[in-house]
Amino acid sequence: MNLKLTDGSLLPIEMHKVRIVQKTSLPPIDDRLKAIEEAGYNTFLLRTRDIFIDMLTDSGTNAMSDNQLAAMMVADDAYAGGESYYRLLDAVGDIFGYKYCLPAHQGRAAEHLLSKVFVEPGKVVLMNYHFTTTKAHFELHGGKVLEIYCDDALETKSTNPFKGNLDLDKFQAAIEKYGAGNIAFVRMECTTNLIGGQPFSMANLRAVKELAGKHGIIVIMDASLISENAYFIHEREEGYKDKSIADIVLEMTSLADITYLSGRKSTCVRGGFIATNNEKFFSAIKPWLPVYEGFLTYGGMSSKEVEAMAVGMREMVDINVASSSADLIKLFVEDMDARGIPVVTPPGGLAGHIDARKFLPHVPSLQYTAGALTSAIFLVSGVRSMERGTVSTDRDENGNEVEADVELARLAVPRRVYSVSHIKYVVDRIAWLYEHRDLVGGLEFIEEPPVLRFFFGKMKALNGWNKKLADAFKADFGSEV
Ligand SMILES: *Cc1c(COP(=O)(O)O)cnc(C)c1O
Repeated sequence: MNLKLTDGSLLPIEMHKVRIVQKTSLPPIDDRLKAIEEAGYNTFLLRTRDIFIDMLTDSGTNAMSDNQLAAMMVADDAYAGGESYYRLLDAVGDIFGYKYCLPAHQGRAAEHLLSKVFVEPGKVVLMNYHFTTTKAHFELHGGKVLEIYCDDALETKSTNPFKGNLDLDKFQAAIEKYGAGNIAFVRMECTTNLIGGQPFSMANLRAVKELAGKHGIIVIMDASLISENAYFIHEREEGYKDKSIADIVLEMTSLADITYLSGRKSTCVRGGFIATNNEKFFSAIKPWLPVYEGFLTYGGMSSKEVEAMAVGMREMVDINVASSSADLIKLFVEDMDARGIPVVTPPGGLAGHIDARKFLPHVPSLQYTAGALTSAIFLVSGVRSMERGTVSTDRDENGNEVEADVELARLAVPRRVYSVSHIKYVVDRIAWLYEHRDLVGGLEFIEEPPVLRFFFGKMKALNGWNKKLADAFKADFGSEV
């Protein structure tokens, strides 16, 4: 929630109190220099003990509520027919309006099952934008992924409130080009992750459903971040100011034939599921569930997580929960923007993103602009962010480097974990880094894995910029912080 202060400014205020805490520490600059050196300038390889504020991801790192933790204590561990499943089924019925639910151990497992049933060689899958695991599964099953996002979706600086919208003209053109019968389904991803947590509008989803319905094409919604998308519809779309998040979520799910999610995001647990009202779809997926995941009533999830997810489903439609991350991200992004730091706008629903090409114009993509920026941010602050740029883009089949479309440093804001003072600290240190950006140089691989190199690859800093940056930091702040 945003509370208006006396001077008219908005303060994102926590509508919860902290009752369990995890201790953190701020290792001094020389320790951070050593830690990032040992991690090969790859933030995935840092250890928690070296990190002050962990903004790598919001996946599985959100704070659970007291009621979620309490529910875990009464989880039913029965292999088959466990009561925890039926409580999840009730929540899926009440919150999404669906009769059927197939749990899976996480989002990508749901995608695997959907691929198995709906994707085959030669089929085209249309979507507003891809997610890494989504694309991998659909392509492994022989599908061709076609992203038909709106024209300014990839513009980092924008005022479009719904950059996650699917382009209807491109949808129509795809139907004409491939034929409706060759389109496996159209997938709408809520709070579109890889373009900066950007939402689609209800009007867009409704239009997608209408066009799809006319041609007998299935609409599948990726609802991993549905509560944030619903909150943005509430805030930004005409006619939704007076509707509750619960009503908006129900309206969204009523426009999809199948909805699936990673429970690691909006529901604040670790798991996932596929849900639908279509008995034929349910029956087609069900036999595969025990093959890959587990029996229908737990689907590879711990029964404790099933139980907590049932509670998380109900809690995520509370506007104070749906907005908990988004309001903090708004403050974060607007504060950086006001200081001239090149950020992705409008603020999205899972992270603040910095455009590394604009931040470090002197560092070429093949010296890993975003990788250098995430390393430099860690060095000057102890804040861990994620590289989303050329390091995350593997070489092509001939072994050549591929420059990424965009070079981003992503600073995720896990739900209910960090406070306004944490965010203000992060902005301050990034602003300092921006003033000293000329000191930051490029990186070079010293260990490059053949696939998904961003996970385990190691690099080194070119021309000793790491030490020069640390020296400049110490000159301004001393060596204690
Ligand atoms: C995280 C995520 C996934 C994958 O889910 P996992 O639980 O990590 O397997 C799929 N889609 C979206 C939009 C996500 O954010």
